[in-house]
Amino acid sequence: MGKGKHDSKSKRGKKSDRDKKSKVAGLDATAASDKGVPEPIAFADALRVGEGFILADCDPRSTPGFDGDKADGEEALAARAGEISQYQERLYAESKGDVKRSLLLVVQGMDTSGKGGIMRHVVGQMDPQGVKYTAFKAPTAEERTHPFLWRIRNALPSPGQVGVFDRSQYEDVLIVRVHGLVPRATWSRRYSQINDFEAKAVADGTTIVKVMLNVSVDEQKARLTERLEREDKHWKYRTGDVDERLLWPQYQEAYQAVLEKTSTDAAPWFVVPADRKWYARLAVQNLVLEHLEAMDPQWPAADFDVEAEKQRLAKS
Ligand code: AMP
Ligand code: MG
Repeated sequence: MGKGKHDSKSKRGKKSDRDKKSKVAGLDATAASDKGVPEPIAFADALRVGEGFILADCDPRSTPGFDGDKADGEEALAARAGEISQYQERLYAESKGDVKRSLLLVVQGMDTSGKGGIMRHVVGQMDPQGVKYTAFKAPTAEERTHPFLWRIRNALPSPGQVGVFDRSQYEDVLIVRVHGLVPRATWSRRYSQINDFEAKAVADGTTIVKVMLNVSVDEQKARLTERLEREDKHWKYRTGDVDERLLWPQYQEAYQAVLEKTSTDAAPWFVVPADRKWYARLAVQNLVLEHLEAMDPQWPAADFDVEAEKQRLAKS
């Protein structure tokens, strides 16, 4: 994605998007527009990281792909909740047949970027039975005895599942790079190792949606301040958060490298402006939905004689 893409308020894709949605049987494609909520254009096109992408040029308060305000955004988020859970059910059902596919949502971002809210408000719209959620913390002693991708591979979704990574393999080229936790020669090899790993997962049937929640340094300060001022938010605060904050420029540089080196055709990055929580949630929901729509999972055919079973049941 080039410079200035985030400013675009283009209506591109609006009609074809609506057409695509209405093809999905049983889904209320017009729910959002019936209520007068501005219809989103394709978020994937507005947010995808391409050639020449510059993180510093993205405005964390912008709302690419959506013309409405906070109330509109919250309404639009609620309006598509049913769709996301129906798609997920369909993906799960499909995996009982011959088609084995999954979706993996990777969520990265600085502290207070809103990862937790994405989990509650977007991932929470799906049936937990079909979601495989993993939060990656500093590796345990056991995990450290394995190559860095070992714990990541173990957390990949099974066919039919939606996998969710709350932090990910990218910590191994973010915090690890910024703090020099391994030699430069080691972390610098990891970008291509990650690309190979992801290409294989994609070839094996996993659609990967990588999201970077792009919060600004000022908004982070406001959110950390709130964590200190509200007793019910103290539990979220770690004194180390300020230490990481002091390394903001180094983190921005490390994120820029990630976005440049690992936004591949197989698994591109999407940079989501995150200073407005309502927008970030709406964008991630729609990114997941757009990918599920493209996957277009199908109900599997019964592997038994339906008519014969109806008769057997009636007589029972
Ligand atoms: P949180 O997500 O706020 O609960 O914090 C988890 C912490 O674990 C963050 O500070 C991450 O940077 C850190 N973390 C996650 N993965 C790694 C890793 N591979 N190496 C070092 N630290 C990590
Ligand atoms: Mg934290």
